[in-house]
Amino acid sequence: MASLGWIVGVGAVGLAAGGCAYAAMWPGSRIFGDALIAPRRRGELALTFDDGPNPAWTPRLLEILASHNVHATFFLLGSHAQAEPELVRRIAAAGHLIGNHSWSHPNLALSGRARIRAELTQTCDVLEQVAGMQVRYFRPPFGARRPAALAVARELGMVPVLWNAMTSDWCDPSGERIAARLMARIDRLLKRGWAANIVLHDGGHLDAAAYRAPSLAAAGLMLGHYKRSHRFVTVDTWVA
Ligand SMILES: [Zn+2]
Repeated sequence: MASLGWIVGVGAVGLAAGGCAYAAMWPGSRIFGDALIAPRRRGELALTFDDGPNPAWTPRLLEILASHNVHATFFLLGSHAQAEPELVRRIAAAGHLIGNHSWSHPNLALSGRARIRAELTQTCDVLEQVAGMQVRYFRPPFGARRPAALAVARELGMVPVLWNAMTSDWCDPSGERIAARLMARIDRLLKRGWAANIVLHDGGHLDAAAYRAPSLAAAGLMLGHYKRSHRFVTVDTWVA
């Protein structure tokens, strides 16, 4: 699981602009321990969506992805999944990859191992029961500044997943600006031969029905921009 063949660190490619404290937790360094970020694969993009499922916006997102015939990766919160099992089933039935994003979105860098383990196992239990598939990927809330959460995830048989393209989509009202900021980063990664592991939010950890129209608009713009010339993949395709 720790082979460096597929676990690739990418240097910090730019901190998200804007005043959101969350962006300060940018995972640009290998000090986080081995985690999947993105491989050197020219032309590949993974759209990943965090903090759902969101009954107000995830159904619309599923329509957008279906209209482009693209599969994405959804890192779901266990607490939201328990409240919206039918939506979790719809995500899985549409062929998207489902990952674990903890139960309640705590800052796991401040949590002990027992709490981390409980957050992860409870979420896997609900997701596997509802979606009927094994959950193999984990994205730590806030990126996790210390590697304990990543180590616990690996002990539980999951692959920790970070990212290399993010902006403050959860607090930016402009889908165009979100897309433009992400595309600037993505283009830099692609030019250097890296795949892009892109974070957007279809949900909200503080509000289960958080307003996510700008994030969905950004996803639609990026799908339109890259779909002909690039390949959208789910993160499991980067793990041999
Ligand atoms: Zn999150």
